[in-house]
Amino acid sequence: MSRWVSQATVEKRYAQIEKRIEQACERTGRSKEEVKIVAVTKYVDTPAIGEILEAGLGHIGENRIQDALPKYEAYRDQAIWHYIGHLQTNKVKDVVGRFTYIHSLDRLSLAEEIEKRASMMDIVVSCFLQINISGEKTKYGLHPDDVLAFVKETSNMKHIRIAGLMTMAPYTDNQEEVRYVFRGLREWQERLKELHLPHVTVEELSMGMSGDYEVAIEEGATFVRLGSVLVEPEEVEA
Ligand SMILES: *Cc1c(COP(=O)(O)O)cnc(C)c1O
Repeated sequence: MSRWVSQATVEKRYAQIEKRIEQACERTGRSKEEVKIVAVTKYVDTPAIGEILEAGLGHIGENRIQDALPKYEAYRDQAIWHYIGHLQTNKVKDVVGRFTYIHSLDRLSLAEEIEKRASMMDIVVSCFLQINISGEKTKYGLHPDDVLAFVKETSNMKHIRIAGLMTMAPYTDNQEEVRYVFRGLREWQERLKELHLPHVTVEELSMGMSGDYEVAIEEGATFVRLGSVLVEPEEVEA
């Protein structure tokens, strides 16, 4: 079985999602242009990415480098690539130079490796600081107590730009229960902006997935990472 989704299906889902995004923006006086969708394509095989791009989505998110590389090689310049999963230090060399955004910067050893690789290539990598707002032990991300010291360290790294913050909310059937997580991330954004540190622009908030993106948008998300609601595969015989 290959994991596939057609352009027509993606277009239909995309239109419904856009409507919900628009409504969430209206409820809070935001403009819908502020919200970008990262299509999380880990559920589908490489050819489906073509369908997703044809449907008009331009940001592609992957969370495992082994799965992402063939997809990247097939569609490189046709998309903007986001690395959204936990990143092992020994995989950084495969990510830097390919992915425009890394959403999962969560420790100093990782920042140092990104800085090293980016400096060798003479590029600046846009990173999201992943913060574990909910404090769940199963989640990656910096503990809130460590955030200030961490950004002060990375602000000295000339090849890393802290473009924004990222968090993952606990799984829930009730979006209201996780609103505090998204609000907490936005409060961190305000706090970090006030520091006016070099290379810390923090204009983006990467938060909200299939089950909770509307509340995330009400709380200020600029990138929502949508997998199942958008690209759930339609199984076909291989
Ligand atoms: C899989 C994944 C998503 C998308 O999840 P859905 O609930 O399917 O929308 C978003 N962010 C990360 C980091 C993921 O690994």
